[in-house]
Amino acid sequence: MLRIILIALAIYCIIRLLNRYRTSLNPSEKSNANASSLNMVQCAHCGVHLPVNESFLIHGQYFCCTEHAQASRNRAE
Ligand SMILES: [Zn+2]
Repeated sequence: MLRIILIALAIYCIIRLLNRYRTSLNPSEKSNANASSLNMVQCAHCGVHLPVNESFLIHGQYFCCTEHAQASRNRAE
């Protein structure tokens, strides 16, 4: 019985090590995701800088909020 538990534990450790090894082989995937989230853009209305994933892209322009997108559109019309 003890032998089965030890074998199961060994298999579990090997799987964990393999997963860690696999994630360490692909650090570029992680850094690419970080780079895209750190990519800063400027609000076309107020000029504030914010991460691209938090901005609103409307008609090819970035905005910090929908109110500024609306205000910029009203100004253009
Ligand atoms: Zn703004």
